[in-house]
Amino acid sequence: MENSFNGSPNRREFIKTGGKAGLAAGLSLTILPALAKGYHKKEGAGFEESIPFHQQPLAYDYKALEPHIDAATMELHYTKHAAAYAKNLNDACGAEHVDTQATKLEDLLAGISKFTPKMRNNAGGHYNHELFWKSMAPNPQGKPSGKLLTAIEKEFTSFDAFKTKLSDAAKARFGSGFAWLVLNADKKLVVGSTPNQDNPLMDVSELKGFPVLGLDVWEHAYYLKYHNLRADYVTAWFNVVNWDYIGQRYESAL
Ligand code: MN
Repeated sequence: MENSFNGSPNRREFIKTGGKAGLAAGLSLTILPALAKGYHKKEGAGFEESIPFHQQPLAYDYKALEPHIDAATMELHYTKHAAAYAKNLNDACGAEHVDTQATKLEDLLAGISKFTPKMRNNAGGHYNHELFWKSMAPNPQGKPSGKLLTAIEKEFTSFDAFKTKLSDAAKARFGSGFAWLVLNADKKLVVGSTPNQDNPLMDVSELKGFPVLGLDVWEHAYYLKYHNLRADYVTAWFNVVNWDYIGQRYESAL
């Protein structure tokens, strides 16, 4: 996958001029980490902490999630929709003086109310999609295990009850958005949804916490195969959830 941001002339130019622009942005860059509210993983937990500002390669082929998610949807979703969020995020960072080398995307999201709607939509869009790709895998184990399974069973009574709750949140989200499993500030698992490309890391979000698992319910995620039948897409999606990854993610945030 071509990555137009990794070491591109625009990025080098931005880094060179970042010193001057940084003066104007100094205030927002200083207060951003203070807004993060501890939703990051513990240091040294052996888990990738921060999502980078550019698209990462997909860990599987576009067709690898078939028949549940079709290759054409995956290719368009990854190379067009998600690529555009990454590009527009970097454009917004340039225009709004965010140093993408010195800033964590998670911290930017935690203070997103200080930025433009373009930043909000694309910072969220990029974060949400990078998480979404990693949350799926070909032929995964069908359910979580270990601490995550224990916590899900404690909070929702059973894995099936949790699936129903997440599915209901996904189906109930009017228009576009994401359904989430979130670890809140009390270290409790919560299911909810956010509109558009918002996510629970954002200070503007009603649903707040660490996003353990996110389900994209934009029509671009399913319309080619499932048409108007979002519920069928959601049911199929549970067959490709990478519970190993989600379990690691959960444990890293405890
Ligand atoms: Mn999407």
